[in-house]
Amino acid sequence: MHWRSKLLHPSSHAPGGFRSLVTPIYRGSTVLFEKTADIADEWRQEAHGYTYGLYGSPTVLELGARIAELDGAHYCFVVPGGQAAIAVVYLAFCTAGSHGLVPYSAYGPSKELAHGLLKGLGIEIETYDPAIGSGIAALIRPNTALIWTESPGSVTMEVQDVPAIVAAAKARGVPVALDNTYAAGVLFDAFHHGVDVSVQALTKYVGGHSDLLLGAVSVANAALYEKLGSIWSQLGMAVSPDDASLALRGLQTMGIRLERLESSTLKVAKWLQDRAEVETVLHPALPDSPGHEIWKRDFKGSASVFSFVLESKVSREKVSAFVDSLTLFRKGFSWGGTASLAMVYPDLRRPNRGYEGRLVRLNIGLEEPDDLIDDLRQAFDRLRAGDQAEQKLFSAAPVGSF
Ligand SMILES: *Cc1c(COP(=O)(O)O)cnc(C)c1O
Repeated sequence: MHWRSKLLHPSSHAPGGFRSLVTPIYRGSTVLFEKTADIADEWRQEAHGYTYGLYGSPTVLELGARIAELDGAHYCFVVPGGQAAIAVVYLAFCTAGSHGLVPYSAYGPSKELAHGLLKGLGIEIETYDPAIGSGIAALIRPNTALIWTESPGSVTMEVQDVPAIVAAAKARGVPVALDNTYAAGVLFDAFHHGVDVSVQALTKYVGGHSDLLLGAVSVANAALYEKLGSIWSQLGMAVSPDDASLALRGLQTMGIRLERLESSTLKVAKWLQDRAEVETVLHPALPDSPGHEIWKRDFKGSASVFSFVLESKVSREKVSAFVDSLTLFRKGFSWGGTASLAMVYPDLRRPNRGYEGRLVRLNIGLEEPDDLIDDLRQAFDRLRAGDQAEQKLFSAAPVGSF
C-alpha cells in the first residue's frame, strides 16, 4: 500500500487491555457496521447497538446511565444544556392547540421559549403562582398537555408542593415535568414524588466547575422513553464526549462538594439574616422563606444558591454599587461551580412582591465562608458610608440651595 493509504488503513495498533478508573473518551460521528445486514438507522442505541454518533457515544451514554441511576429514572437522555432539556420536554408534550402551565418563578429562558417559539407554533403556555399546590386543578383545561414545576424557583426560591400538583395532574391525566437543577437530581427525589419527567442542567452541580454546558432529561417509564426519545432524536441534540467526560469526573466529587456548599451557604445566609440592611433572605432552609415547610418535608438538603432582598430605602443604583464593591464574589450568570458569584435583577418581574432592583442572588463557592462574610461586611460598610456622606451633604446645604 502507498503510505497515503496506510495513513487511513494502518495494520499496527496499541495493545488492548488497558484498564483505568476513567471512562474513555470515545469520539465518533460515523459508527461502523460489521456487515450490511447490521445497518440500522435507529436512535435506540441500547436495544439496537451503536448506529450513529449523534445518538450517543459510550462516554455520553455512560453519563446518561449514571444520571438515570441517581435519579431513579427509567432512562436519561443527555442533551447539550439545561435549556435544551427544557425545549425537548416542551416539544415532546405540546403541539398546536395545546395548553401548558409553568410557574412564574421558572428559569427565565424557559418562559421566553414558552412565550416566543412555542406561542408561534400555536401552543399556549400560562404562568401560575408557584405556591398554588393542589389549586392547580382549577387551571387544568381539556387541552392541558404539560405542567411544569421548578422547586425552589429561580431567583426567588419558592419551594413548590410538587406532590400536591402531581396528585391534581394525575387525576386529569396530565403529565408533570420538574426542573430539578437546584437539587442536583439528588436532594429531591423526583420520581418518588410522582413526576413523569425530571430535567437538570448538568452545567451546575454535576459539572461543578463552570467549564461545561450539559443537560439531562430523565423519564419515569418506557412509554415516556419512546415519546421523549422520538423528539430528542429529531432535534439533533449532539453532545461532545469531552464534555460528558468532564461531567463524569464531576460526579465523583459532587457528594463532598454539595455537603460543603450547603454548610457554607447556610452560614452566609444566616449572617445576612441578622444584617439591618437586609429585609429578607430567600433560602429554602430558613423558616421565613416561601415554602420552607414543604422543603423540610420533601428535600434531603439545600444547595449553594439563594437570594436576599435589601431594605426598601436602598435604591437600584446603590444595590448595583453594593454588588460592584464585592471582591471575592464575581458577577456572572449560572451557578453551582467552585466560585462565589453575585447577580442583580433590576427587571425581575414577580407578582405582588416588589423585589425589583433590591434583590441580590448569591452562589456560594468553595472559598472559606468567613472570607465571604468579610467581603459582604465591607460592602455593607461602604453602602452605609455612602448614606452617611449623603446625609451630611444634605444637612450642610443651606436652605434654599435646591
Ligand atoms: C441554569 C439553569 C438551566 C439552564 O441550563 P443551561 O445548561 O445553562 O442551559 C435550566 N434550569 C435551571 C433551573 C437553571 O438554573
